[in-house]
Amino acid sequence: MTQDIQPGAAQCGCGQTRFRVHGAPLLRALCHCTICQEFNRAPFADIALYRGRDVDMPADGQVKFNAWRAPPAVQRGRCAACDNPAIEYLSMPLMPTLVIVPVANLPDELDLPAPSLHMFYHSRVADIDDGLPKYSGYWRSQLGFGRHLLPRMMG
Ligand SMILES: [Zn+2]
Ligand SMILES: [Zn+2]
Repeated sequence: MTQDIQPGAAQCGCGQTRFRVHGAPLLRALCHCTICQEFNRAPFADIALYRGRDVDMPADGQVKFNAWRAPPAVQRGRCAACDNPAIEYLSMPLMPTLVIVPVANLPDELDLPAPSLHMFYHSRVADIDDGLPKYSGYWRSQLGFGRHLLPRMMG
């Protein structure tokens, strides 16, 4: 492939779905929930969260969306061509929509922060021995997530 790679250029595994992120994510998190496991076909999801305004969305038709469960309402999108996780939209009451990007879809040159937390750790496939906070249980995970995310949204 010889196309120009622009700063912040993100894409799915096959390169068909393309979008752009601007700046650093609000938060990087590791989610062990069973939906993330299934969606990502992985033991857990390594995700970066962006404000909606910091992402140039993929073109219509590149991504197939499925809503899994509410609340929180997450629209999870797979690439229409390769079927790999592409991009997700998280809507919470009283909050601007957030965009979730699997870290694997972000360009290597992006200087990503380290993950801040593990959430839904009770449904983990394997224990993880790192120093990060680990939140188990649905509400504890939501609260832990909010505790890390909200100060960054305000900042
Ligand atoms: Zn693809
Ligand atoms: Zn999850």
